[in-house]
Amino acid sequence: MNKKWKEFAAVNGLTCEKNQCYGTLNDYQVSITLEANGGLMIYRVGVHANLGTHAKEVYNFLAVENKKKYKIGQVSTEDSGIYFVILGRMGIVNHIDMVLHELTEYLKSLDVDGTVCPYCGRAMIKSVLAQDNGGYFRAHNECLEQRLQSAVAVENMEAALPNNYWNGFAGALVGGLVGCAIFAILFAIGYVAFISSLLGAIAASFLYSKFGGKNNAVKVVIVSIVTFVMIIITFFVCYIVQVAMVMDEAGVSGNAASLFFQLLAENADVQKEVCYNFVLTIVFTGLGIVYNIMSLVRQQKKVSSGIKRIGQ
Ligand SMILES: [Zn+2]
Repeated sequence: MNKKWKEFAAVNGLTCEKNQCYGTLNDYQVSITLEANGGLMIYRVGVHANLGTHAKEVYNFLAVENKKKYKIGQVSTEDSGIYFVILGRMGIVNHIDMVLHELTEYLKSLDVDGTVCPYCGRAMIKSVLAQDNGGYFRAHNECLEQRLQSAVAVENMEAALPNNYWNGFAGALVGGLVGCAIFAILFAIGYVAFISSLLGAIAASFLYSKFGGKNNAVKVVIVSIVTFVMIIITFFVCYIVQVAMVMDEAGVSGNAASLFFQLLAENADVQKEVCYNFVLTIVFTGLGIVYNIMSLVRQQKKVSSGIKRIGQ
């Protein structure tokens, strides 16, 4: 955390370490975690209170009523409090300061007690410094242990689920078809839209999971093969259909596919155009696959690995 954050921490009596500021602000435990994500500065901000029956109200306060005003991204309520993410920019320290003060005032108006254990809502006579979902805060040691155990149990259950390769494959086919359809439509009106191969790869990955396929390395392999094969077929089919239509207009009979490949072999202009478009189509499909791999790696990061005891 930079000098601005250190000043903010000093004014509010917070502790500032490496990528994290935490402590008690306006009677509530808060944490601000800096996460560098692909060159972007993203802050994950947590208010660690036991929201109890107010969870929904607090969520709406951030995610609905004040989302625009606070300029925040994803909001989530967890066992250890409420979290939101916000993009780093000029004046971010003052901005987060303002949001935290307003949010904690709101919590006070709901009579949410900021002194109790965020997990169980009981008084904390003995507590440890815990980390969960990025942020540092104080909680009962036994509650932290319990939270870790239930996160591990959920992960073990997910690991034991069937792979559902065929369902995933069907989803990838449908997603790939979406990309191919966009490609074909745009081709018909005169564009070779490389972006559609990227969209196809992303849609295939999304639907692979939606159809019940599990998130693992096999998914990336299946999705990659399906999208590559489908987009390459679509690419050539589009060109062959184009040749067939030109032949039709000119009243020439014959096999459009063999004429297309003959043109491709003999005509330098056709070669140049088709090769250029083909390479870019492949590159964009590849980009979609890289995106899929990155999101797989992100999703496979275990929740339990982020739950630990930091200190006494
Ligand atoms: Zn507790």
